[in-house]
Amino acid sequence: MYRLALTSVTRITTALAILIVLSTISWSTVASDGPIAIAIHGGAGTISRDQMSTEREAAIRGELKKALEAGHAVLAEGGSSLDAVTAAIRLLEDAPQFNAGRGAVLTEQGKVEMDASIMDGRTLEAGAVASITGLRHPIDAARHVMTDSPHVMLMGKGAETFASQFDLETMDEAWFITDFRREQLRQIQAQIEDAQTQENETAALNRTSSKDSTAWYSTVGAVAIDHDGNLAAATSTGGMSNKRWGRVGDSPIIGAGTYANNQTCAVSATGHGEYFIRHVVAYDICARMAYTARPLAHTADVVVNQVLKAAGGSGGVIAIDRFGRITMPFNTPGMYRAAIYRDGSMEVSIYGDEGRDQKNSTNAH
Ligand code: ASP
Repeated sequence: MYRLALTSVTRITTALAILIVLSTISWSTVASDGPIAIAIHGGAGTISRDQMSTEREAAIRGELKKALEAGHAVLAEGGSSLDAVTAAIRLLEDAPQFNAGRGAVLTEQGKVEMDASIMDGRTLEAGAVASITGLRHPIDAARHVMTDSPHVMLMGKGAETFASQFDLETMDEAWFITDFRREQLRQIQAQIEDAQTQENETAALNRTSSKDSTAWYSTVGAVAIDHDGNLAAATSTGGMSNKRWGRVGDSPIIGAGTYANNQTCAVSATGHGEYFIRHVVAYDICARMAYTARPLAHTADVVVNQVLKAAGGSGGVIAIDRFGRITMPFNTPGMYRAAIYRDGSMEVSIYGDEGRDQKNSTNAH
């Protein structure tokens, strides 16, 4: 009787062990063969067809497509989501149409000060740089902070000294500055000057920020999932036009402008940074995913089109969940955005009335 019971226990234990081994094998097979997908953005704002020249629109769509395909190629070759978002961001940093790297917006002094961040959803490791100058690819510096330092964020001269160890490419300041950004700064400063004759400076600055949002939001970002099911997010920016006092926005702040966690989702934001910091937007979307188990599209839409909008914060996000589902909601008239979905289909969109996610946009303006 006792021997019989013992034999049954041994059998059950053996069966359980086999089951565990089998499930581990099938899980790793699925995990390394999971769906790949990537989304990128080039900023949100008052982007309207009547203010956009055909050439500029074609150039923007072309650069978005190029960066998207470069990121996707990394994933398709079995590369990591971290490498994919880095590859996409590097190209967007070189594209003068966007507010990152070359083409970054200018400070009140006419200088370029850049911020960038990256996060690994598998380990929750992250790296960021703020207020750096001269580096062609701020995202590379952020990645080195993540992988080669015990820190998460470095800023200014210290960050540049840290980055100088890694043979990263530097450029003269003139290389970063485009005529488009020079003219944008001139117009913003002229508007503020005009306004100052009638009202106080803070009101003038606020007025300008809501009036000329295209000038303020064209940060770049990328989120991706690789074959192993690992999520990553990255963001790079010149911040806001006419910024001063060493202002830093949400883009390099982990949780505000960038967040990734394999358990939930990866997010990169663009918009009026102060609001994204106050509402910890990227983290809030991921946290709500964990707490409520509602779909990503719904969750990101609530944060962007309800929470943020009610607070007066304009902008948008790109986000991808652990199943590779992508959403790109925004509460501005447009957002430069592109995605290659899990089924391999591609979207490159600018305005609120195009693309898969158009229902998520309020198209309010
Ligand atoms: N979020 C960025 C910042 O506030 C601006 C942008 O999205 O273009 O610095």
